[in-house]
Amino acid sequence: MTTHEAHLAEAVAIARRNVEDGGSPYGAVIVKDGAVVARAANTVHLTDDPSDHAEMVALRAASRTLGRDFSGAVMYASGQPCPMCHAAMRLAGFREGYFAYAAEEAETHGVGSAAIYGELCRPLAEQPMRLRQMRPEGASPYPAWAARTKA
Ligand SMILES: [Zn+2]
Repeated sequence: MTTHEAHLAEAVAIARRNVEDGGSPYGAVIVKDGAVVARAANTVHLTDDPSDHAEMVALRAASRTLGRDFSGAVMYASGQPCPMCHAAMRLAGFREGYFAYAAEEAETHGVGSAAIYGELCRPLAEQPMRLRQMRPEGASPYPAWAARTKA
């Protein structure tokens, strides 16, 4: 078993335990420089926070030790990261990740986010969630932010 396979197997084991504990079938492990920095299960069933996916819980835990430096970190997720987790990983600076089960397979069992992935690839006007731009009068906050970060 390779190191990648071992870390992914741990993520899947976390997912299996989470089902036994009443949660969703998801687990995640974050590794940096060969060391595990976070392990997590999906905890939505415990917190009612819809963002408590395994990857997000692991990401938050890892940030407490890594800060914002996720360079070289690798995400191992039992299931294909949903659009929220995928984007969070990207924003955090992950360059590599592995998952065991595709979103389409999860959806055949009543979980997963393959449909949302598909929706998000469509123009805003064609998506089921209405998200519309309403630009207010006045300056946006971006110039002030840019000026502050250049100082
Ligand atoms: Zn997710």
